[in-house]
Amino acid sequence: MEEERLVMSGFREEEDEQESSLRPKTLREYVGQQAVKDSLGIYIQAARQRRDSLDHMLLYGPPGLGKTTLAGIVASEMGQNIRVTSGPAIERAGDLASLLTNLSSGDVLFIDEIHRLSHAVEEVLYPAMEDYALDIMIGKGPSARSIRLDLPKFTLIGATTRAGSLSAPLRDRFGIIFRLQMYSTEELMKIVNHSSSVLGIQADEEGVREIARRSRGTPRIVNRLLKRVRDYAQVRGDGVITLQMAREALALLDVDELGLDRTDRAMLETMMKKFGGRPVGLDTLAATTGEDAVTIEDVIEPYLMQLGFIMRTPRGRICTQAAYDHMKIPMPQEARAAKADEQLSLLD
Ligand code: ADP
Repeated sequence: MEEERLVMSGFREEEDEQESSLRPKTLREYVGQQAVKDSLGIYIQAARQRRDSLDHMLLYGPPGLGKTTLAGIVASEMGQNIRVTSGPAIERAGDLASLLTNLSSGDVLFIDEIHRLSHAVEEVLYPAMEDYALDIMIGKGPSARSIRLDLPKFTLIGATTRAGSLSAPLRDRFGIIFRLQMYSTEELMKIVNHSSSVLGIQADEEGVREIARRSRGTPRIVNRLLKRVRDYAQVRGDGVITLQMAREALALLDVDELGLDRTDRAMLETMMKKFGGRPVGLDTLAATTGEDAVTIEDVIEPYLMQLGFIMRTPRGRICTQAAYDHMKIPMPQEARAAKADEQLSLLD
């Protein structure tokens, strides 16, 4: 039972069949991330030729960019099984030990949110990654001794939204580290077209472009919006996704021209109005918007920074002129002063 909760063969339980049918299964089908694919293709081929397992790999980037999908692809391209778990699910060192001893040679172990592993669990992971060994303490007190168990050679793939919060010793044990980038509109259009054909949705090019453009550079969001727009087109139109249908559906979902939703806009508005454009610290922002600090940092901010709407400064976050223009809020005098200060401090 325990094993069931910790590890799932294949992907997350809540993922329905439809969802998993949208996941690309091979590196060739995986859209975008060209630099990652080029390198990974070589590493996979080299490891296969040596009949060796792939080095441990760390994937980082905001949620929904395809880390889990890529881990699945690595396993299938290597012709191996994948075991999926996550940092918070591995509560005790013993949980990880039982997981590791149940692996078969060549298996891929995928740990999502790997930055949330406890220190005690990390300690078990080090020798496992480095020497494929498990150190177990037997007995207590002066008679305690440690024995070493050999583990099968496996590949650990860790995923995290924040490489910065991984401890240095853990980060150093990954031979391959990739950062996933947000996707371009053209890349997201490819994903929408593929998903539409899997789900039997009809959409014209302009409709597809509109959904892609407003999906914050994120495949998971593009697939979600596609399904909601499909529902709308089915009820309000003739089922075909056109530019008009996409616009109306997205307006109903409160997703604006740039893909910002109510939460993003509320945060920008708080920074602009409540704080009058002065730099705001993360915790203050979390307290005033009611959003969790982690959600702000991992989910909301990356896209706003990508758009160039928010800048992180040593004194806190500030909104840029572009953000004020988008929100149609005049930039307060203090915000200009904060920005000028910032530029001066950068010159220091
Ligand atoms: P993460 O693990 O980074 O949160 P996932 O791997 O779960 O993201 O991806 C979310 C969804 O987006 C998947 O179900 C998949 O259908 C889709 N997806 C992600 N990356 C790609 C890609 N490169 N090409 C096509 N679809 C993708």
